[in-house]
Amino acid sequence: MRRSMWILVPALGLAVWGLLATRSPARSEVGNVERLAPDVYFYEGDLKGRGHCNNGWVVFEDYVLVIDANFPSGAKETLAKIREMTDKPVRFAFDTHHHGDHAYGNQVWVENGAVPVGHTGVAEEMKKYEPSRWEEAAKGREDVRASKLKPPTVLFPDTLIFDDGKHRVELRHFGVAHTHGDGFAWLPKEKVLFTGDACVNGPYNYMGDGDSGQWIKTLARAQRLGATTIGPGHGPSGTSTLLDEQILYFQTLRRRVRSAVDGKSPGEVQAAIETLRVQITADPRIARFVGDFFPAQVGKVYQELTGKTLPDRKAERDAARWHLAWHHPHNH
Ligand SMILES: [Zn+2]
Repeated sequence: MRRSMWILVPALGLAVWGLLATRSPARSEVGNVERLAPDVYFYEGDLKGRGHCNNGWVVFEDYVLVIDANFPSGAKETLAKIREMTDKPVRFAFDTHHHGDHAYGNQVWVENGAVPVGHTGVAEEMKKYEPSRWEEAAKGREDVRASKLKPPTVLFPDTLIFDDGKHRVELRHFGVAHTHGDGFAWLPKEKVLFTGDACVNGPYNYMGDGDSGQWIKTLARAQRLGATTIGPGHGPSGTSTLLDEQILYFQTLRRRVRSAVDGKSPGEVQAAIETLRVQITADPRIARFVGDFFPAQVGKVYQELTGKTLPDRKAERDAARWHLAWHHPHNH
């Protein structure tokens, strides 16, 4: 008995080591503030439990700039984390895009003295989709119901720069990606890039409001910045390879769907979704991007490539409800 234990323990250790070694580069953890560089922080939101997005913040000489407004409950949680380290005022809340988990917390930041900032496309998308999406989210979320919709009031068409000599943050728009108004926060000195949902680290790509072909080009422009640390919209932080892998996932998805479409009816393509899932999951670099949204992702790419829709669009509706209002489809 004792002898077999001695053999088992190192074997177990090796197995655990093997698991850790093959994990994607990730240093953050839900509930823990991660310091990416001096005065630059990343906080991975509680996505599964409360639908929160990730937040970043930069402590300037006189104020704090927070990246993403989160849902109202996430805004309060992140504000408390910021307050634990500095009493400088939070002056700006940057919405990386218009979705509720990144922008519905704007009112919380306003009440705490900040101004919501976004690419002009964020305001345009809100005009297009709101207030109906907000009302839908309010039905299922107490925090949204208790707050109000507040679009960004400082808008930039292309670039907005915050620079106090010590820190520099460039808010940039590189084109259509996850939405038509995605903004990135780029810190050239620290080589840190906050991406919003234009890049995620895990099975979180909601594609319903974007365009995957343009998304790849937009990410390629972001890639040219030369970031070494990535703060994604959902999932743990990563290194430059995270951007490469996010691009590779969309390229592979488009290539696989394109070949599945060849000579097939929409119903046949729909029936092939699980085969596509197995094929794409076989690549270890991108397997972690495949998850519950996969059938909806295939449906969206199919529509982009053919102009037609798959016969059963339930997965696409569920993905929209899940990503936009954070009603988990399995809870219905
Ligand atoms: Zn989103």
